[in-house]
Amino acid sequence: MSLSDAELLERLVAFDTTSSESNLPMADYVAGYLRTAGAQVELQLSPEKDKANVVASVGPVADGSRRGLVLSGHMDVVPAREGGWRHSPFELANEGDRFVARGACDMKGFLAVAMNLAAERAGSASLRSPLALIFTFDEEVGCLGARYFVEQWPAARSLPAQAIIGEPTSLSVARAHKGHLKLKITLEGRSAHSGYPHLGVNAIEPAASVVDALAHLRRTLETEQVDGRDLFPEVPFVPLNVGTIAGGSAINVVPDRCTIEVGIRPLPGGSSAELLERVRAAVTPAAGGLPLTIEELSDTPPLLLPDDSALHRYLCTLVDQKADEAVSFATDGGWFQKLGMDCAIFGPGAIAVAHRPNEWIAKDDLVRARLLVSQTIDHFCVEVH
Ligand SMILES: [Zn+2]
Repeated sequence: MSLSDAELLERLVAFDTTSSESNLPMADYVAGYLRTAGAQVELQLSPEKDKANVVASVGPVADGSRRGLVLSGHMDVVPAREGGWRHSPFELANEGDRFVARGACDMKGFLAVAMNLAAERAGSASLRSPLALIFTFDEEVGCLGARYFVEQWPAARSLPAQAIIGEPTSLSVARAHKGHLKLKITLEGRSAHSGYPHLGVNAIEPAASVVDALAHLRRTLETEQVDGRDLFPEVPFVPLNVGTIAGGSAINVVPDRCTIEVGIRPLPGGSSAELLERVRAAVTPAAGGLPLTIEELSDTPPLLLPDDSALHRYLCTLVDQKADEAVSFATDGGWFQKLGMDCAIFGPGAIAVAHRPNEWIAKDDLVRARLLVSQTIDHFCVEVH
């Protein structure tokens, strides 16, 4: 019944867990695999009941001491519709020194290792502190599963306070990332025949001014000396991206609506509520009196793990890393922090090949991840401190 890490990875990538699809087949498989190995497993269904987080634990029940370790990753993947795949993206291809498939790197490779390590520990009875797994849904569309987990997790239930988020970092240790606030701005006009423009209100023209105002805000943000910028030498400010714009239905129709989607990435300690207000203050006058709404699509908090925390110190020593590192993508860890968890971003695979055709993970990385994560389990769940 038990599979090697590579065999398990092959099973996991075969589930099409693109965020737009249900992840229940994979969640059921993961739960069954871990249950068979002796883990305590629960599925936390999404509000629509079409997706689930999987929460599993082995070893003693978590107590108020919050000892132990959490291994966490997301089960969803980005769409695999881009051209350039050499083979079916949901079949694991064995190509020399690497495995290729959608999700091989981001991040089912880590999930396979975490599942097998938990399964092995469940059988060995060596754990003095709990080892927990938290596998989430909808990370790629705004860490929605992690947010739901944090909002639903009962305050009275303990979890280990140290967590590894196994996103691809090529097994270096990242202790910070920016957040990601995603907004949708909608301008409402009134449609009309374009030959009779006085009967309508064009929603696209003022949208141009709104984009201009956003660009102005972006330039302002780039000049501000925000706290924590030293951790992000490449982009030491709050980036704002006007990501999409959509409006109009035909060339002879006065457009009644235009939507603009904007992403903003606050640094650790920054406030997304304050950034939202700055967006509102910038775009409202620019719309020239046209009704405008700003919808928050998602808000992933930034992450900061203190450099002298036990987890950061341990992992840096383990991989002989001297420098402080941060990553430029948001993770579920931003949410988990709100449960008082110290989260390090640490996983196999290179982020540079994620979200691209022929996404791959080096076989060596999987082997190394197994060794390093296993040692971390020994440190936090077996040894007495
Ligand atoms: Zn990821």
